Amino acid sequence: MTQKTILIVGGGFAGVACGKTLRRLLAEPEARIVLFSEENYMTFQPLLAEVAGSSILPEAAATPLRVALPGIECRREKVLAVDLMANEIEYEAYDGAKRRLHYDQIILACGSGINLSAVPGMADHAMPFRTVADAVALRSQISQKLEQAAVEPDPERRKYFLTFAVIGGGFSGVEVAGEVNDLLHAAKKFYPTIRPEESRVILIHSRDQLLPEVSPSLREFTREKMEANGVEVILNQRVKLVTAEGVKLNDGRHLRAATVVGTTGTAPHPFVEKMDAPKDRGKFKTQPDMRLEGYTNAWAIGDCACIQNAFDNQTSPPTGQFAERHGKQCAANIAAVLRGQPTKPFSFRPLGMLCAIGGHSAVAEMFGFKLSGFFTWWMWRTVYLMKLPSFSRKVKVAMDWTWELLFSRDITGVKIDTTNRIQDAYFASGSFVFRKGDPATDFYVIEKGQVEVLRSLNGNAQEEVVAVMGPGDFFGEMALVEDRPRGASVRARTDVEVTVIGKGMFARMSSVLAPLANQVKEIIRKRRSFRERLPRTSEILAQTTMPECVEPLLCEPLTERCTFAKAIGQFERERADFYCVINDAGQLKGILTRTDLLSAIERVAQLPEDQRGAVVVGELMTPNPLWVSLQDSPLMVAEMMRERSLKRLPVVYSPDDMRVAGFVRLEVLMALVLRKLEGMAASS
Ligand SMILES: Cc1cc2nc3c(=O)[nH]c(=O)nc-3n(C[C@H](O)[C@H](O)[C@H](O)COP(=O)(O)OP(=O)(O)OC[C@H]3O[C@@H](n4cnc5c(N)ncnc54)[C@H](O)[C@@H]3O)c2cc1C
Repeated sequence: MTQKTILIVGGGFAGVACGKTLRRLLAEPEARIVLFSEENYMTFQPLLAEVAGSSILPEAAATPLRVALPGIECRREKVLAVDLMANEIEYEAYDGAKRRLHYDQIILACGSGINLSAVPGMADHAMPFRTVADAVALRSQISQKLEQAAVEPDPERRKYFLTFAVIGGGFSGVEVAGEVNDLLHAAKKFYPTIRPEESRVILIHSRDQLLPEVSPSLREFTREKMEANGVEVILNQRVKLVTAEGVKLNDGRHLRAATVVGTTGTAPHPFVEKMDAPKDRGKFKTQPDMRLEGYTNAWAIGDCACIQNAFDNQTSPPTGQFAERHGKQCAANIAAVLRGQPTKPFSFRPLGMLCAIGGHSAVAEMFGFKLSGFFTWWMWRTVYLMKLPSFSRKVKVAMDWTWELLFSRDITGVKIDTTNRIQDAYFASGSFVFRKGDPATDFYVIEKGQVEVLRSLNGNAQEEVVAVMGPGDFFGEMALVEDRPRGASVRARTDVEVTVIGKGMFARMSSVLAPLANQVKEIIRKRRSFRERLPRTSEILAQTTMPECVEPLLCEPLTERCTFAKAIGQFERERADFYCVINDAGQLKGILTRTDLLSAIERVAQLPEDQRGAVVVGELMTPNPLWVSLQDSPLMVAEMMRERSLKRLPVVYSPDDMRVAGFVRLEVLMALVLRKLEGMAASS
């Protein structure tokens, strides 16, 4: 008998159940079973909320695949592609090389993906909740916020630190909100400076009831019970925007929260999207026995597959319960194929639903019975304990749970080092990147949009805009270099995209990159010196208004759709140095200078003659230029122009009304100061 090679892609509920059953049904000489997974453990997602809430230790929700799957070759390597015609996979080996492996049977069990871009700002400012690392990060965040609140004298900021917003009222949202709430209650006795009413857990759901998967009476019970435990449930509201400071709802409310957890946004797995195979609603399309449609030796199971349940003719839902059953039956079908026997369609009578809702309570719908309360919670724990894939994990979780019943929850917040990260972040117009007094943790480089720097001047409580920065500019360096809290606030003036560089990474980069260190020093010097060195000039500019300094545009703006040929003609006729470029609504979109035009001529000259006429100004301009508005202070504008050696800047009516009002030149600002100084000298 020749040994067959069976490959499993994915070490989750489906892949592990399939591997285990295959090994039981097929002896080693019959089949070599290889399981590829991106992690060397299986994540038990139903217990992640317990990790975040400190009921169990993180390792309890992660079972090593080698322990769970004796007799199976477990490889922690990523499968890059499957060649269904050649019966081969391509994978990224441990050393980074791409290698291929032949198979006789393949099982695709790669799970689903995540789409945090479903809500603007969620990817940048909300904590995702799918992996063990996510749960550990949330637990650490809760502990960090408790510590900050405990020593913060300002009651408003204390409340902000202690507000946790959870987006999504499905199973994971309900479980997370319940656990976070329980942990906050349990931690209270260790934080005597925090008053109980200062902490808030808000659960936001777009429908009129939580847990759409269970029956209406249990949904009602869930809401009532969670509210009785202190969770604030907001129904029928969509989160419109997540900011660095909380969430904005559909009805316009802005809820300030230092922690936002995103539990919505399931998407097709990128591996599934990439694969050239039959699909249905972003999942692999399967035959009744779970074979990939059109193939005899490729199977798809779990969350990545669209599988009809012959028991009730419904599509299998994306749950661990179904994924596990797919895995078991798929293994039986493969064993049948290898033995020349017929396969069976997938058929499974759902066992029901179980969900812990916090406060030692759970809801369940099992075999037609509706259960809720403490007994159901106990049953929830027993069921999941039994389902854990290895004996050692069962013991570990049972011990953690016993510990939690007898003693307080563990409030240790293992410090997660985020200082060495580099990531992209988005801030919606009007939201704060950081506020005065915040700890300095990051350095920012603007990719798109503008931010404004706010300071309280001359002892005024009211902060005013003292600088505006745009693409290519950086900020946040002063507090990092001087190792002190933020001395000013920075707010997004338009929607902004920034690269965020953690403190540790910034220190390393500036110690090895002398040009960066020098530029940072030079900018700090420039940013400081203007007001200190020129106090009279600063005073006069601070008392001047922008309309006094703005000149009308010398030439009408060009539109984005204006052709290249027409733009050249206009430059020639009007002898302009630059043009503002506007869209159809008259809003400023770019600047076209003589330099842009020269480089455009080179580009356009390389095009075939018949295509040159189609080139438009929108493709040639410098997009997203730096601008100032009629409401800005001329002092701030002068500083900005001096810092960047700018000769002129377009002026718009306001950040909300981006029509061009004119432009401002540095020499006009200086001439105005001189005139005012002369006037003062004459009158004294
Ligand atoms: C917070 C949370 C709570 C949940 N609670 C419950 C619950 O209480 N009850 C319930 O029934 N369900 C629950 N679920 C849903 C359940 O976890 C999923 O339905 C289940 O995990 C799906 O199993 P799967 O094997 O299809 O995918 P997964 O468990 O996601 O496993 C996919 C595996 O594929 C691997 N993989 C992906 N791509 C590749 C590649 N290219 N190469 C190699 N390996 C790859 C991954 O590393 C992973 O090991 C919950 C989900 C979440 C996020």
